[in-house]
Amino acid sequence: ARTLRIGLIPGDGIGREVIPAGRRLLESLPSSLNLKFSFVDLDAGFDTFKRTGTALPDKTVEVLKKECDGALFGAVSSPTTKVAGYSSPIVALRKKLDLYANVRPVKTTAGSSGEPIDLVIVRENTEDLYVKEERTHDTPEGKVAEAIKRISERASSRIATMAGEIALRRQKIRDAAPVSTRSKPMVTITHKSNVLSQTDGLFRETARKALAAERFASVVKEEQIVDSMVYKIFRQPEYYDVIVAPNLYGDILSDGAAALVGSLGLVPSANVTDGFAIGEPCHGSAPDIEGKGIANPIATLRSVALMLEFLGEEAAAAKIYTAVDANLDEGKLLSPDLGGKASTEEVLNDVLKRL
Ligand code: NAD
Ligand code: MN
Repeated sequence: ARTLRIGLIPGDGIGREVIPAGRRLLESLPSSLNLKFSFVDLDAGFDTFKRTGTALPDKTVEVLKKECDGALFGAVSSPTTKVAGYSSPIVALRKKLDLYANVRPVKTTAGSSGEPIDLVIVRENTEDLYVKEERTHDTPEGKVAEAIKRISERASSRIATMAGEIALRRQKIRDAAPVSTRSKPMVTITHKSNVLSQTDGLFRETARKALAAERFASVVKEEQIVDSMVYKIFRQPEYYDVIVAPNLYGDILSDGAAALVGSLGLVPSANVTDGFAIGEPCHGSAPDIEGKGIANPIATLRSVALMLEFLGEEAAAAKIYTAVDANLDEGKLLSPDLGGKASTEEVLNDVLKRL
């Protein structure tokens, strides 16, 4: 059996309620999968900051780097007013571990109305405007602020390659399902190179080149200007499979796309580098429902599956997706954010029962 060591970083608020659910899911996977897990609890977040003066202790980074195959990150609260010395631990983790891709699947289940949506946004996570190189000048007409938008061939190439690989893997999972909903994988390259011919132009050209590789021969390639992408993703979300985008467009598209499904409590994500992944529900620490035991664990359970996919455990991931979809399709044990009455524990137990 393969043993995977998983770092658990609950963070703040409902992170502490949903990450234990993720751990129980891993512990409950059928033994036929031949997978074992060991866990290490790690600190990060605003409470950690208040206690220790740092939101991301060095130890957390060290243990992730040296010991772990993957990790689960809950959510962190950010202070409402600027607090000296505080910065977001997940942003720091992305840098320190070179988690260069943020992957966000958005999926509805058979039970929901309208055409089924099953798309994934693959966002470049290390450059673009997020290099945070800004400056402000005083001019006779008043202040002028500017920021660097950095696009590199290396980062564009590896994110497009990852998008191609995700597309192939999704097709494999679809083909193994009883009803395959799409016959060919597709990657849509998002850009604004009609205006930004050098930066977005480089992203588009490089992504095109990366996806022209022989192993992506079966992948349908498309390009879409980001503003019309926003229009189409709302008008015709069922059309899309994999969408690859530079950092800023990917950030906006992925939060927007999360609105296509019923609740933030359903949407997973993963922060990925080669051979390592951190699963992370898209929602925050939800102070309004903290401590009530009613947080929807599904975003986390799906993040567990997504992490496993990137660790090469597709069969385990598929089992989890199927169990979660069955819970949602039946619709009897739903948490309050989906109009139900079930607790975190009850939703989790229902999913575990279906494994
Ligand atoms: P939020 O995602 O925490 O909550 C938004 C709304 O969705 C709330 O009404 C909440 O109850 C509900 N919700 C979220 N997750 C849910 C779940 N699993 N089950 C049921 N309902 C759920 O966003 P917010 O309220 O804007 O932010 C709260 C705190 O979280 C802030 O401090 C913010 O900075 C932080 N935050 C962190 C992350 C992250 O860690 N990645 C993301 C967003 C916000
Ligand atoms: Mn965002």
